[in-house]
Amino acid sequence: MQFNFIANAQVPSLSGRTLPVIDPSDGQPYDEIQRSSPADLHDAVGAAQQCLYATWRSTSAVERGRLLYRLSQLVTEHADELAAIEQRDCGKPTRQARADAQALARYFEFYAGAADKLHGETLPYQQGYSVLTWHEPHGVTGHVIPWNYPMQIFGRSVGAALAAGNTCVVKPSEDACLSLLRVAELAAQAGFPAGAINIVTGLGHEVGDALARHPGIDHISFTGSPTVGTLIQQAAAERHCPVTLELGGKSPQILFEDADLDRAIPAVVNAIVQNAGQTCSAGSRLLIAQPIYEDVLARLGKVFESLRVGPAALDLDLGPLIRASQQQRVWDFLSDAQVAGIPMVAQGQIADDAPESGFYQVPTLLRDVPPDHRLAQEEVFGPVLAAMPFRDDEQAVELANATRFGLVAGVWTRDGGRQLRMARAIHSGQVFINNYGAGGGVELPFGGVKSSGYGREKGFEALYGFTTLKTVAIRHD
Ligand code: NAD
Repeated sequence: MQFNFIANAQVPSLSGRTLPVIDPSDGQPYDEIQRSSPADLHDAVGAAQQCLYATWRSTSAVERGRLLYRLSQLVTEHADELAAIEQRDCGKPTRQARADAQALARYFEFYAGAADKLHGETLPYQQGYSVLTWHEPHGVTGHVIPWNYPMQIFGRSVGAALAAGNTCVVKPSEDACLSLLRVAELAAQAGFPAGAINIVTGLGHEVGDALARHPGIDHISFTGSPTVGTLIQQAAAERHCPVTLELGGKSPQILFEDADLDRAIPAVVNAIVQNAGQTCSAGSRLLIAQPIYEDVLARLGKVFESLRVGPAALDLDLGPLIRASQQQRVWDFLSDAQVAGIPMVAQGQIADDAPESGFYQVPTLLRDVPPDHRLAQEEVFGPVLAAMPFRDDEQAVELANATRFGLVAGVWTRDGGRQLRMARAIHSGQVFINNYGAGGGVELPFGGVKSSGYGREKGFEALYGFTTLKTVAIRHD
């Protein structure tokens, strides 16, 4: 049985209600989490406020950085344990689960180093005045976290919030809580004061909604679906609470005829197969220059056919999807493709020993996907790649920008001028040239435009989002 983590203690929900924890590899329950209510959330906010005013506000930036560094070391020491927890909870192949634990440690390390480097400015002003700016923490920050990368998303948002001097109340996804509850224990062991990090588990429309509405929450960081992003904004708007939103995408990979295909093809595959396609920045649309269209599809088809899906512990190319409803969602997209006559180029295979009750989906490559079809417009959040040809640079830009999203784009060309023209013309938060994702990029600001959200996570930029600027004007003539 897992408990909420409030003020450095394990706490049952006030109602005593629980939710099952399901292993996506076999669909069977194996643990329970608390199904918390708004009253539990209220207690967590109280603990975070108490910590803020009693301890955290007077903890120096140097000391906040040291605590984060100690936590980073503890996460590294417990990386295998954390990876094993995440693997079973989320169905992640071993390599992915380990990479997530390492990224978590790296986020804490990065923000440990950044904590005492967040400084304001002195501004030139009228004679007789000195004007300063200070980056001050918001206070108590709320973090609503999805199930696809719990550790990484916790690291980037809670790490930055703590470094900037905030305390945190975290609502993980009901489908993926266990690693974060363990990380919170490690934070207590590292020396974080009671109430600096609080975790309340439960359903989104119950405890997540309560977090968005709670008057004691001074900033909300949300990663998840655009639909819930809208609900969070509406609730936060009632009390003018600032929000950072990361809402996913339909990110294009663009292959020009001069692309280095030996380098591009593995990156294109990885960008849709990683985490079984359940990645906000998945490269889920593939735009291919007409002259190389057939060649690229033939090469990609061979790779897709070789990909294997199976239980997380087997560490194959893909694990299961997170839950039955996500599997059904992917099936619905694929049956729509069939109805629309969209040709399938290739599919991978499910391992023979994968339990039938697991939530498996083979990676699927589709071609000639019409740009206005939902497969080219909506986030599938599964291993489905939608390929389409383009005529020239102009049409590549037009297609790249033709969705409501704008999170990430990949551009593959050796032409330097075209690299920069594309980077300027594509409407998204990140553009990768001759690579995709830059290996995770803890240091690189990340976030979207349009329906992909606003505000930036990761890198130094995230620290500004977790602070508010105060201007101090002193008259001394
Ligand atoms: P979701 O948006 O429903 O859930 C994300 C988080 O929000 C979870 O912690 C959930 O409990 C919480 N939540 C749900 N309803 C809420 C509410 N009314 N108020 C406050 N919090 C609430 O996402 P999902 O159902 O887990 O997945 C659905 C789709 O969202 C996916 O298919 C995918 O397209 C997208 N998604 C995107 C990302 C991303 O990284 N951008 C992550 C997960 C899911």
